[in-house]
Amino acid sequence: MGALDTLRLTAREAKKLLVDGEVSAAELTKAYLDQIAAVEDRVHAYILVTADNAAKYSTKVDREMQAMRGPLAGLPIAIKDNMVTEGVTTTCASRILGNYMPVYTATAVRQLWDDHVVMLGKTNLDEFAMGSSTENSSVQTTRNPWDLATVPGGSSGGSAAAVAAGEALWALGSDTGGSIRQPAALCGIVGMKPTYGLVSRYGLIAFASSLDQIGPLTRSVYDCALLLRHIGGKDPRDTTSVESPEAVELPSAERLDGLRVGIPREYLAAGIEPGVRARFDATIARVEELGGTWVEVSLPHTEYALSAYYIIAPAEASANLARFDGVRYGHRAADADDLITMYERTRGEGFGAEVKRRIMIGTYALSAGYYDAYYGRAQRVRTLVRRDFDTVFEQVDLVASPTSPTVAFGVGSRTDDPLAMYMSDICTLPVNLAGLPAISIPCGLSGGLPVGFQLIGPAFSENRILDAAHALEAAIGFEPAPAFRDSSAGPEPGEGGSATVAAAGAPS
Ligand code: GLN
Repeated sequence: MGALDTLRLTAREAKKLLVDGEVSAAELTKAYLDQIAAVEDRVHAYILVTADNAAKYSTKVDREMQAMRGPLAGLPIAIKDNMVTEGVTTTCASRILGNYMPVYTATAVRQLWDDHVVMLGKTNLDEFAMGSSTENSSVQTTRNPWDLATVPGGSSGGSAAAVAAGEALWALGSDTGGSIRQPAALCGIVGMKPTYGLVSRYGLIAFASSLDQIGPLTRSVYDCALLLRHIGGKDPRDTTSVESPEAVELPSAERLDGLRVGIPREYLAAGIEPGVRARFDATIARVEELGGTWVEVSLPHTEYALSAYYIIAPAEASANLARFDGVRYGHRAADADDLITMYERTRGEGFGAEVKRRIMIGTYALSAGYYDAYYGRAQRVRTLVRRDFDTVFEQVDLVASPTSPTVAFGVGSRTDDPLAMYMSDICTLPVNLAGLPAISIPCGLSGGLPVGFQLIGPAFSENRILDAAHALEAAIGFEPAPAFRDSSAGPEPGEGGSATVAAAGAPS
């Protein structure tokens, strides 16, 4: 067979090639390792590429195909580096976990390993998943393969860029306030945050425990469902995990007849760029063409959601990150004379600026005199945000919005303005506060950069979301073709230049 096009191949197609004997797991894995070798010096998606292990394991899968035949066997995957992997360093892109070697494996990853997936490596992220651009990584800044001068989004920017750049067939990310959906949107791929509890958080290094969820980043909605089927379920090691009332089905819908979609007016007021708005409106027109209807709805507490999130998430983070003290894990400052100095220096050296900012905000919000004024009040706002959704879901089946108010922004353009960076998640983080499932699918380009379309549903409505997204995806017909151009390198021949300027993997 001819060379595999890793920029376009879906997991569904790859699986068929494997089953039909058109390609071996070793060949498939090699195609991704080759693409990593070709483009990684420009994209910087991975913190660690486990090339030798991947090559060896894929050969083993081929050899033991009889015993290892399973729905995911031999399919290569990338894992965000905040999920612990036994025997493979896990850093959260933080100096404090520099060479941390986990002694166990996150349940979601373990389930995939048990299904004989091939792990390609660990992907870059904002330190401890705090950020929206992957620029908060202490390791490197990942670039968006559509335009290397722009960010891939974050915090799962490494996973999103790896998939978009053809450096992974699919990937796992985590989403606390938008960190799967927003980078998926900016990189032109599919990303889904499941209902809170659907996927075990055991082994996901905690950022904000009541908001964090692991989920898929994939090239198609079908792949998203396929991966989600194999990472979910009740885990005795995570008491917040639950068995979904219905198993995740592989989507097949082609129409949206009878589907009622709500468009929250507060989300469209949230500084949405004209180009993003145009793609969103065009996608809503597709909803109608496919037999669905839409109405404007209101989520009146949206304007308080961001503030509540930036109390609750840092509060939980400040507690979760207390364990990184130089004694139990990772980095320890040298030459401290006493214990307190050792703690202070270790944390001072080990954490980056954004993580320190969150620890300070969170510690302050939880302190005795301020707890009720900040944390208590934020929790009450959270309840109101959830009730807003409950009310809306009495009238409509799904809620739709742009995933991100803007397309990918320039590297460095928001790093000095944390509040501008926090605005990136205005359409995604209310979903985490409410614990709901939501997907982002690519819905076209604006100025040559991908735009994401978000569908949000009631708790455990994954099948409804996946079916609707699947039908829409086919109608949209988005062409995944990142050009690896670099707009900072000088004028581009033919502005608006999407997609076809340079061949993937061509030397720059
Ligand atoms: N950007 C948001 C934050 O910085 C969300 C991050 C996430 O979902 N992990 O907290």
